[in-house]
Amino acid sequence: MAEAEKPVVSNFVRNIIDADIAAGKHVARRWSGKPGPGPQQQAGQPDPARIRTRFPPEPNGYLHFGHAKSICLNFGLARDYGGACHLRFDDTNPEKEEREYVDAIVDAVHWLGFDWRFGQETNLYYASAYFDWMYQFAEYLIQAGHAYVDSQSAEEMRANRGTLTESGRNSPCRKRSADENLDLFRRMKAGEFADGAHVLRAKIDMASPNINLRDPAIYRIRRATHHNTGDKWCIYPMYTYAHPIEDALENITHSICTLEFEDQRPFYDWLLARLAEGGLLLRPLPQQIEFARLNLSYVVLSKRKLIQLVEERHVDGWDDPRLPTLVGARRRGFTPEGFRLFAERIGVSKADSWIDMSVLEDCMREHLNEVAPRRIAVLDPLKLIVDNYPENHSEECFAPNHPQHSELGNRAVPFSRELWIEREDFMEVPAKGYFRLFPGNSVRLRYGFVVKCIGCDKDAEGRITAVHCEYFPDSKSGTPGANNYKVKGNLHWLSAAHAYAAEVRLYDRLFAVANPGAGERDFLLDINPGSKRIISAYLEPSLHQALPEERCQFERHGYFVADRHDSRPGAPVFNRTVTLRDSWAKEQ
Ligand code: ATP
Ligand code: MG
Repeated sequence: MAEAEKPVVSNFVRNIIDADIAAGKHVARRWSGKPGPGPQQQAGQPDPARIRTRFPPEPNGYLHFGHAKSICLNFGLARDYGGACHLRFDDTNPEKEEREYVDAIVDAVHWLGFDWRFGQETNLYYASAYFDWMYQFAEYLIQAGHAYVDSQSAEEMRANRGTLTESGRNSPCRKRSADENLDLFRRMKAGEFADGAHVLRAKIDMASPNINLRDPAIYRIRRATHHNTGDKWCIYPMYTYAHPIEDALENITHSICTLEFEDQRPFYDWLLARLAEGGLLLRPLPQQIEFARLNLSYVVLSKRKLIQLVEERHVDGWDDPRLPTLVGARRRGFTPEGFRLFAERIGVSKADSWIDMSVLEDCMREHLNEVAPRRIAVLDPLKLIVDNYPENHSEECFAPNHPQHSELGNRAVPFSRELWIEREDFMEVPAKGYFRLFPGNSVRLRYGFVVKCIGCDKDAEGRITAVHCEYFPDSKSGTPGANNYKVKGNLHWLSAAHAYAAEVRLYDRLFAVANPGAGERDFLLDINPGSKRIISAYLEPSLHQALPEERCQFERHGYFVADRHDSRPGAPVFNRTVTLRDSWAKEQ
């Protein structure tokens, strides 16, 4: 792990784990090497993992920056405490999951630098593999008087649930005997009833001030083909029932989730306690811990909105570099190290807050500044002619690959009579304080010569077509006496005969405002119209060889990456990852 990721700052989750370890809470746990109920684990070895956490995505979409926070947290804790973090696909809902998402999630977690292997274990699981146990546990709950089959209509159930200020009313079915419930539940499973005809409910307390404890539904009838279990089941567990059981079967010690599940914790604990009483699970049981989700300015993280952006083609697919998806980030050139630094820096807390996009961008800059070699690109080219330099001649100048890392060496960049410079680096009539090229002014062509501007050419419309200068032969960078020239401007340039034209995509933030769609506003109205600009730029010859996903800094412009999909051998296409400085700060 990179230096920047240390030292680990403590937080309330770490405090809980530290206290658990100090108290020896988990040392006696046993583990059979794979998920399973209590008796199976009891027959196993002492659990070699000091803690177990999990990242449990539902494979119904691409992961976004919010998931990255959860991944870094869960896998990071396991890494730091000598524990294991499981990657669990929460695929208990038969309708929505798709293989495409499973593959993308596996890739994204690996890309962020984490792994679910622990010693000999490969802790990648599918919650749907636990359906048999979930079903057995439900039968146990029925037999123990903790669950009943309710045959009220959905409307009746809703009406009898009560409100925040009014307690609920018991269902007439609540008095059914265990035998009757078991018979009905088995017939639900056998497919004797239509979808929605019955549900299985936990029998807790219809008067509880916490509505989640008012006999929550735990199984429903739903005829749907599941991507993993096919048509084996026509009843499916509800998420709130399935999730605690998944954690327990996997020996999870700390089940970390976002704050909106806080009100579910009493049910989580109730359910696992009942199953432990019945000998189906071992204590200590997993502990649910809630933290504040990531809210990030200038993006939307809601799955529904992301789908809309993709389906309505406001962006070019899930991996559009402007989307806050991890596939998009990767294509944009964001780095795993930058994400891990970001997760460390924002920390974890119990209080909801907004993080500014610039915090994430700064983390990317920090990492890229270290690792990205410097290269030269002219994005908005204007011809500069060195009138006193011989025609058909060229020579080499030497540019350092990294100003802070001389061990990375220099590379040759050819100099000749006709050069490309940025259009904005010349002004015929200089503005106040302008110290780049204008008639009569001298500047240094970075790593090359000092030149003095002597005029410019224009076309019929008055547009500047070329700038003229003269060079000082004894001013070449790195030669004796070069430092005698004192100039303020220091411009990048490319030899026109050697540079090559390439497609460069200038990406910027997708939304122009910090909180897209604030209030009742349609978030699509807040799209930044300038978020993608495709240009043909001139690049230094060495960039021909850049491989897909190779990163560099284009000096004075920003960090760029060779696109991983559209680059061809010898013809990389570059995406701007982030500018060198935050160009948004002053506009806020
Ligand atoms: P939905 O539930 O609407 O399908 P989701 O974003 O919650 O979407 P999940 O697949 O359930 O998707 O999320 C997997 C894990 O990622 C969960 O444990 C969740 O807590 C975590 N997570 C999701 N969004 C964020 C976020 N913005 N910040 C931190 N963690 C998040
Ligand atoms: Mg979710």
